[in-house]
Formats: sequence, C-alpha cells, structure tokens
Amino acid sequence: MASQEEVNDLVIIGAGPSGLACAIAAHENGLQYVLLDKGCLVNAIFNFPPNLIFFSTADLLEIGRVPLIISDEKPTRTDLLKYYRLVSEHYGLNIKLFHNVLAVAGDHPRFVINVEDRPNLVAKNVVIATGQYDRPNLLGIPGEDLDKVSHYYTEPHSFYKKKVAIIGGKNSAVEFALDLYKNSVDVTLIHRGETFGKSVKYWIRPDIENRVKEGKIKAIFNATVKEIRPGSIVVADSDGEQVLENDFVFAMTGYHPDTDFLQQMGVVIGERHTPKHDPETLETNVRGIYVAGVVTVGSEGSKVFIENSRAHGNQIIGHILNGRQD
Ligand code: NAP
Repeated sequence: MASQEEVNDLVIIGAGPSGLACAIAAHENGLQYVLLDKGCLVNAIFNFPPNLIFFSTADLLEIGRVPLIISDEKPTRTDLLKYYRLVSEHYGLNIKLFHNVLAVAGDHPRFVINVEDRPNLVAKNVVIATGQYDRPNLLGIPGEDLDKVSHYYTEPHSFYKKKVAIIGGKNSAVEFALDLYKNSVDVTLIHRGETFGKSVKYWIRPDIENRVKEGKIKAIFNATVKEIRPGSIVVADSDGEQVLENDFVFAMTGYHPDTDFLQQMGVVIGERHTPKHDPETLETNVRGIYVAGVVTVGSEGSKVFIENSRAHGNQIIGHILNGRQD
C-alpha cells in the first residue's frame, strides 16, 4: 500500500529573525511547518563582525514575547546568537539547519521543495525569509574580484598600519571607517553622494564628521572608484582621476535578495530587486508564496530590519489561516 504523502501547511526558508518569528506564529496556531536554512541559525548575524553592537535596543529585537535580557542597553552579536538559540529552544521549533533549498516547484496547495541531498518536502505554502546578506551590491569594476576586496567587514586588527579604502556613505561605511581609524588604520572613505547618507545614526554622525574635519579620516565625496589594482585604486571625481595607494578595500554598498530564486518560482521582481507582494498579507503574485523580512524591500535594506519585520510572521500566518476558512 502506498504511504500517504506528508503535506506541511508551510515551509519557511531562512532561519533568521523573521523566519523564526514566522515559525513561532505557525507553532502557536497549530500549523504543521518546517523551518529550513542552508546554514546555521541566524546565519547572517553569525557572519556579522564579531564585535558588532546592534543599533536597536534589546526590546526591539525580541520575538515570540521572550525577553532579551542583557546588561547593556544594546545587544552584541554574541548576545543575539544566544538569544535566538534560546527562543528556538523555548518554542521547540521544527528547524532543520544546513538544509539547502535548491528549488521550489508546483503551485498552491502543493509546492514541492527540493532540498540538496535530502528528500523533497511538500507544503501548501512557502515563506521566503532568506535575507540578503549573501548578495552584496557589486560595483562592477575591474579588480573587484581581487582577494584584497571584501563586502563583509570583520575587525580592525589585521589592517593595522595598512591603507584601507571604504566605499559607501551610510551606516556600515561610517561605523567601520571609525572602527578602523580608532585602531590605527589609515582609512579613506569614498562615497558617490555629496555627504554621508541621511540614515547615518545620530550618535555616529558627529564622530565621523569631526574625524573627517580633522583630516584623521580622509573622505572623498561625489566620487566613484573606477578600478581596483593590487597596490592602488583609481578614484574619479569632478576634478578627474587620481590613483591612491591602497592595501585593502571594503565595499560597504549594501546587499540584495536572491532574485533568481524568487523568479524561478514565478515571483515578479520590480525595481531595486523588490519582489511583487501585497504589503498587508506579504503574499507575492504567486498564490501561497510569501516573503518575510528584508526580502520584502529588495536592495533597500535600510528600510526593514528586525524591529519592523518581526511582525511579518503574524501577518503571513493570519492570512494563511483566513485562507483556510474560505
Ligand atoms: P546601505 O544602507 O544599503 O548603504 C549602502 C551604501 O553604499 C550607500 O551609501 C550607497 O550609496 C552605496 N552604494 C550602493 N551601491 C553602490 C555602488 N554601486 N557604487 C557606489 N556606492 C554604492 O547599506 P549598509 O550601510 O550596509 O546598511 C545596511 C543595514 O545595516 C542598515 O539597516 C543599517 O542601519 C544596518 N547596519 C547596522 C549596524 C549595527 O546595527 N551596528 C551597522 C551597520 C549597518 P547611496 O547613499 O548613494 O545610495
């Protein structure tokens, strides 16, 4: 006798804070779900700079009504890794880590989720909460693929006494330029805008502006990097091109979601890598496929972060439950 196929109410792809919030909402409403991630729990946070302190206060990062208790006002990366492990344990979430989803086929109410080296899963609905940290916004210039170039800041020590260029003018560029400068690194920040971005946090802005005024951090505005070479970079502004000595480059140019993955499911991608979706229900143009977290805003990553996407889980589960009653 053929065994009956196991059909989940939903499969959530991506075990970051918004995927976890979705899993909690599914759990609390008695839905059958699986939360998959190709890496570890909160993989993007795991890959953040080891000494990072989050901009948001602890209360704004809490999910599932589990208190995030820390001794300082703002949590560190380590605090958050521990917290999201605790939340997952608290709810006994059905999480499968290091499960890489290759493709999603089919239609509502029967999607087939193809997981690398594992049996397929079947679900009525799929939530894409895959973040964007894996896909940096590339500059598309010669030399971007050199080993000395990175889109991921780590920590300052190994750059001591070196010439480091930072590309970008918002929070990552500014925070990491300051961190390097405070650890005796020779920093030049190159930004295509005429000044630092409006989103730069109010407690960071005076620090960077004063360091630039003093000439401690060199900043070149209205400028673009045209080429990266092993020992130099070519920078162009209205005065023409100049070649600067350079050892390392951090291109802090933001990130965008995996749009190929979404398009392969039939999701329409609009401007700035944004998937077409209903902002109330978070359902995409494909019935039964939802987006959550920073995926919802494409490459405009500074519009959505943990504190304003942790409600996405309830929005999605609410819509799935309403659909059941139709
Ligand atoms: P972002 O806000 O997307 O800023 C990207 C910067 O790169 C912008 O200045 C942008 O220029 C520039 N840029 C993009 N593409 C470019 C290109 N092709 N050529 C030259 N410049 C380019 O990214 P982010 O600063 O990494 O911040 C992402 C999110 O992380 C934000 O929500 C931020 O608040 C958060 N963050 C949090 C912390 C923390 O919690 N401690 C630290 C850092 C960042 P334009 O300004 O001209 O668009």
